Amino acid sequence: ERLVDAGAAGEDQAIEAALRPKNLGEFVGQERVREQLDLVLRAARQRGATADHVLLSGAPGLGKTTLSMIIAAEMGAPIRITSGPAIQHAGDLAAILSSLAEGEVLFLDEIHRMSRPAEEMLYMAMEDFRVDVVVGKGPGATAIPLELPPFTLVGATTRAGLLPPPLRDRFGFTGHMDFYEPAELERVLHRSAQLLDVEIEPDGAAEIAGRSRGTPRIANRLLRRVRDYAQVKADGVITRSIAETALGVYEVDGRGLDRLDRAVLGALLKLFGGGPVGLSTLSVAVGEERETVEEVAEPFLVREGLLARTPRGRVATPAAWEHLGLRPPQNAGG
Ligand code: ADP
Repeated sequence: ERLVDAGAAGEDQAIEAALRPKNLGEFVGQERVREQLDLVLRAARQRGATADHVLLSGAPGLGKTTLSMIIAAEMGAPIRITSGPAIQHAGDLAAILSSLAEGEVLFLDEIHRMSRPAEEMLYMAMEDFRVDVVVGKGPGATAIPLELPPFTLVGATTRAGLLPPPLRDRFGFTGHMDFYEPAELERVLHRSAQLLDVEIEPDGAAEIAGRSRGTPRIANRLLRRVRDYAQVKADGVITRSIAETALGVYEVDGRGLDRLDRAVLGALLKLFGGGPVGLSTLSVAVGEERETVEEVAEPFLVREGLLARTPRGRVATPAAWEHLGLRPPQNAGG
């Protein structure tokens, strides 16, 4: 379990639920998506209609589930939550769709990971509020059309480009969620601290925000660990120095890199002079699986401008040398 993992696996569901903003006004940042969504929902309410289907794209932990719940709340509608990988067969989807109440919001996380037959069923359901349930097999199989109540599908995906165009085109509105600015994460942290009844100084919030990788879920998780430290080792107040020391204990550095990230970067710099080095060689040097290095560590290092993937292999940037406090060799890039 990584403290800086943006995913929800292993997250304390009760705490996560308690920290979720309940309406658009409480939702921090993402101004454009918020404004656009506000219009979509207001207009639907004025017409007394069900809101158009909404696609939310963005990295894990940026607030897609939260926004889907807000959409339901703003529409005064119930919500059903499921995910692409949970829908193995078209029948699973038919069962969900046919049990929806009128106006209900269906949140489909990781919608790009749905099976093909389920995806095709979804096309018709989104467009005509109808599904064909196939009964029987072989030549005797018959399709029984089933009317559905109007509903709002909120699909979530890490990248809108992962969706086949016919599916993408059936959404009335697509919101792109970006990583959060440190100042926005500070607002998230102040809000969460209040809900958790923890005292946090502005400098303390800034320190945690800077290490949260632009992601509210990570910010909230780091806050809880710093709170533990402040409670056990100090008077419970989160100051900058408490946040620094606490996150030092958990090996999350000033830029939000953890031990794995620094191991990858450290090997690249110290063993391979900053590269280029192949992924396999680098992975062996770190003692991790290729997939772990490529999918877990590298994306953030690339985003932070510390590592580049080139056709000749992985290369450290001058910022990487600086971050680890090392001096690049004379003939290397900086
Ligand atoms: P996703 O579905 O994109 O993985 P979630 O909606 O589950 O992300 O959000 C993860 C956590 O981060 C939630 O507990 C929520 O409280 C918090 N969070 C996300 N976005 C915001 C935001 N804009 N303002 C405040 N808190 C947020």
